[in-house]
Amino acid sequence: MALMINDDCTNCDACVESCPNEAISEGDTTYVIDPAKCTECVGAEDEPQCALVCPVDACVPDPNRQESKEVLQARYEKLHA
Ligand code: SF4
Ligand code: SF4
Repeated sequence: MALMINDDCTNCDACVESCPNEAISEGDTTYVIDPAKCTECVGAEDEPQCALVCPVDACVPDPNRQESKEVLQARYEKLHA
């Protein structure tokens, strides 16, 4: 599933550079993840890098966007074709 950023986000900017898909940007109140670009880091890393670097654990799985590893891998390949 794609990750999402919850309200705990302090807009520190640390996650932006960690994303291999450039899926994270500044939003109106918190930073936001574009679910069309998030692959849970499948294709690039072993685990979600944004969740790893976020100091307040605001990058969490989005329960409304459950996707298989195959779907995520295909998205990664399409994004980097
Ligand atoms: S899980 Fe990976 S691909 Fe998704 S937003 Fe976080 S760093 Fe980017
Ligand atoms: S690293 Fe965490 S607190 Fe910082 S901008 Fe990203 S989601 Fe927000």
